[in-house]
Amino acid sequence: MGDDWYERQQVGKDLTCLSEPHVHRYFAANFFHLRGRDADLVIDFGMGLRPLRPCLDLEVNKPVIAVATHIHADHVGGFHEFETRLGHAAEEAAFARMADQDTLADVFRGLSGAVSQAPCLSWSPEHHHIRPAPLTQTVDEGDVIDLGDKRLRVLHLPGHSHGSIGLLDEEAGLLFSGDVIYVGGLVDDLPCSDRALYRHTMQRLIDMEVNCVYGGHGPAMSATQMKEIARQYLQGTSAKATI
Ligand SMILES: [Zn+2]
Ligand SMILES: [Zn+2]
Repeated sequence: MGDDWYERQQVGKDLTCLSEPHVHRYFAANFFHLRGRDADLVIDFGMGLRPLRPCLDLEVNKPVIAVATHIHADHVGGFHEFETRLGHAAEEAAFARMADQDTLADVFRGLSGAVSQAPCLSWSPEHHHIRPAPLTQTVDEGDVIDLGDKRLRVLHLPGHSHGSIGLLDEEAGLLFSGDVIYVGGLVDDLPCSDRALYRHTMQRLIDMEVNCVYGGHGPAMSATQMKEIARQYLQGTSAKATI
């Protein structure tokens, strides 16, 4: 147990994708470690069932910027392990509390087969809570996170949740999209969802120039795939998530 909890995949020269293969598929998210010249970026943090930070091969004394794409439990469990924590202002109060009503951790606890393997001895799902991780800085549309050799622009892409953000490396044409868009059933029926805003977000994605999109779930997408998923959403023909 421990080191083998997280699956790590090198998906680019400076980019590692992590996931939790033992977590129920509905809560099994992708999260990312992007290495920059002057600082590293960690985007999302899994369920927090095992310590994440020691598994990231971080360099001593190199700054680490942690960015949460949104408030849900499958993305913010390990957020508290990092000192510099960025997220959207619309969910600032929620990050400070990590209440079930915002993170949906109670849905995870109620699943049969929440995990296929216990993350540690004597673990049981009913005791799992997401630890508060107050933001040290809020971000909004147009803000830039500078890693020295890479710059990521913050895109506010509400709909799945009010504070959902994407991070766009315009030079490389890479978009980290969180739960805004991915291959698989999309979720727009949560208390924090807004379908009208989601439709606006999907139109933005259709008009966006990118090469590759890393979603919060599922495999990486080409721009063509992303735009097709967005079009299907607007036409009302996209897949819906089921637990
Ligand atoms: Zn989500
Ligand atoms: Zn998710």
